[in-house]
Amino acid sequence: MGDNVFDFKGKRIQKAQSDKLYEYCAVCWAKTDIRKNTPVELRRCYVNGVGQLCPTCYLELYGKDSP
Ligand SMILES: [Zn+2]
Repeated sequence: MGDNVFDFKGKRIQKAQSDKLYEYCAVCWAKTDIRKNTPVELRRCYVNGVGQLCPTCYLELYGKDSP
Protein backbone atom coordinates (compact mmCIF):
# COMPACT_ATOMS: atom_id res chain seq x y z
CA MET A 1 0.00 0.00 0.00
CA GLY A 2 3.06 2.24 0.10
CA ASP A 3 2.64 3.61 -3.42
CA ASN A 4 -0.96 4.54 -2.78
CA VAL A 5 0.04 6.54 0.24
CA PHE A 6 2.42 8.61 -1.86
CA ASP A 7 -0.30 9.26 -4.41
CA PHE A 8 -2.68 10.41 -1.73
CA LYS A 9 -0.11 12.77 -0.32
CA GLY A 10 0.75 14.32 -3.68
CA LYS A 11 -2.87 15.07 -4.44
CA ARG A 12 -3.47 16.20 -0.95
CA ILE A 13 -0.77 18.86 -1.11
CA GLN A 14 -2.06 20.29 -4.40
CA LYS A 15 -5.68 20.42 -3.32
CA ALA A 16 -5.04 21.52 0.22
CA GLN A 17 -3.52 24.76 -0.95
CA SER A 18 -6.93 25.95 -2.08
CA ASP A 19 -8.19 26.03 1.48
CA LYS A 20 -6.08 27.28 4.32
CA LEU A 21 -8.48 26.56 7.13
CA TYR A 22 -10.11 23.19 6.59
CA GLU A 23 -8.91 19.74 5.56
CA TYR A 24 -10.20 17.94 2.49
CA CYS A 25 -11.17 14.29 2.36
CA ALA A 26 -8.22 12.24 1.04
CA VAL A 27 -10.58 10.01 -0.97
CA CYS A 28 -13.30 12.17 -2.56
CA TRP A 29 -11.87 15.64 -1.84
CA ALA A 30 -14.99 16.91 -0.15
CA LYS A 31 -14.21 19.72 2.21
CA THR A 32 -14.44 18.51 5.80
CA ASP A 33 -15.28 20.42 8.96
CA ILE A 34 -11.88 19.51 10.43
CA ARG A 35 -9.60 22.48 10.83
CA LYS A 36 -6.02 22.03 9.73
CA ASN A 37 -4.74 23.10 13.11
CA THR A 38 -6.62 20.31 14.88
CA PRO A 39 -4.17 17.70 16.25
CA VAL A 40 -4.67 14.41 14.41
CA GLU A 41 -5.41 12.54 17.63
CA LEU A 42 -8.40 14.79 18.21
CA ARG A 43 -9.80 14.56 14.68
CA ARG A 44 -12.74 12.46 13.66
CA CYS A 45 -12.37 10.33 10.52
CA TYR A 46 -8.58 10.61 10.43
CA VAL A 47 -6.71 7.53 9.19
CA ASN A 48 -2.99 7.07 9.78
CA GLY A 49 -1.08 6.79 6.50
CA VAL A 50 -4.03 8.04 4.46
CA GLY A 51 -5.08 11.31 5.98
CA GLN A 52 -8.31 13.08 6.68
CA LEU A 53 -11.50 11.48 5.42
CA CYS A 54 -15.00 12.84 5.30
CA PRO A 55 -17.62 10.99 7.40
CA THR A 56 -19.12 9.43 4.26
CA CYS A 57 -15.85 7.88 3.05
CA TYR A 58 -14.93 6.78 6.54
CA LEU A 59 -18.23 4.97 6.82
CA GLU A 60 -17.76 3.35 3.42
CA LEU A 61 -14.24 2.16 4.21
CA TYR A 62 -14.81 0.95 7.72
CA GLY A 63 -18.52 0.24 7.81
CA LYS A 64 -18.95 2.27 10.97
CA ASP A 65 -18.87 5.85 12.14
CA SER A 66 -15.63 7.43 13.22
CA PRO A 67 -15.21 7.37 17.01
ZN1 LIG B 1 -14.81 11.59 1.24
